Amino acid sequence: MKRYTIICRDQELSSLVAKNLHPKLQAIGMIHDLEQPELIITIGGDGTLLHAVHSFLDHLEDVAFIGLHTGTLGFFTDYTSEEIDEFVNDLQNEHRIVSTPLIHIECFNGGLRHDLYAMNEGRIENIIKTQTMDVYIDDEYLEKFRGNGLCVSAQIGSTAYNRSIDGAIIDSQIQALQLTEISGIHHKFFRSLKNPIILHPQTKISLRAESFEGAMLVYDHLNIDLHKTTRVDFTLGDKEVRFLRLRPVSYFSRLRNLF
Ligand code: NAD
Repeated sequence: MKRYTIICRDQELSSLVAKNLHPKLQAIGMIHDLEQPELIITIGGDGTLLHAVHSFLDHLEDVAFIGLHTGTLGFFTDYTSEEIDEFVNDLQNEHRIVSTPLIHIECFNGGLRHDLYAMNEGRIENIIKTQTMDVYIDDEYLEKFRGNGLCVSAQIGSTAYNRSIDGAIIDSQIQALQLTEISGIHHKFFRSLKNPIILHPQTKISLRAESFEGAMLVYDHLNIDLHKTTRVDFTLGDKEVRFLRLRPVSYFSRLRNLF
C-alpha cells in the first residue's frame, strides 16, 4: 500500500500534523497520490474519517482507511497525533485489513428510488410533529411507531448516536442492525415496542408512512428531507469500508476511552 493521500480536519493542529507526516511517509517509499490512493490517512477525529468514507463511496473496494486522532484515541482512529513516528514505523511492518459493512438506505418516492449509504446510522426524525410509521422486518409487519423517530444503526455506529438514545453497544465481533426508538410515545392508549431490537445482519428493516412530511433522514453527518417519500428500507452489506490495522487496539480500550 504505497500510494496514499491525507484527509485532514480543517484545523491548525491537523494541518501541522499532515505537514510533518508527508516527508516521513515519503522517506519510507510511500507516494502521495491524490488521484488513485490506496491508503487514506485521516487526521482529526472520528468525524474526519466519517467524512472521508463518504468522499470515497464509489471507490471503497480500492482503498483502506486509517485515522490519526488529534485528541485522544477515537472509535475509528488508532493513533494519536503524538504517535506519528510509531505510526510510520508500524506502516513498514505486517498489517491486516478489517472490514465493516455500510448500511444501504433506499428511499422510495412513488416509482423513484434513491440510494444512500451510512457507516454509523440512518435515522428518520421529525421534530415538528409526531411521526407515525409502520415497521416491517423482512416485509413482515411488526408495529406502528409514534414519536420523534427511529434510528437504524450498524455495529460500528452502536456507540455513536444510538448510544445517546439508550441503544445497546454491540461488540465488534458481531455484525447486526439495531433499531432504536427516538422519543417514542407510550401511554395507555398507544405503545410500541420501546426496547431496542438487534437483528441479524441479513435483515431488511422497512419504515413506511402515509406521510413523512416534516421528517428528515439523517445518515451519519448528512441529511435529506423526506418530503414525498413513503418508504425507507435499511439493509447491511453491499458496500464495506476497509480499515488498515497496524497494531492491536481492543474494542474495550476504545469503549473505555469514550466515557
Ligand atoms: P461529529 O463528527 O461532531 O461527531 C459527534 C460525536 O460522535 C463525536 O464525539 C464523535 O467522536 C462521535 N462519534 C462518531 N462516530 C462514532 C462512533 N462510531 N462511535 C463512537 N463515537 C462516535 O458529528 P456529526 O458530523 O454531526 O455526525 C457524525 C456522527 O456523530 C453521526 O453518525 C452520529 O452518530 C454522531 N452524533 C452523535 C450525537 C449524539 O450522540 N447525540 C449527536 C450528533 C451526531
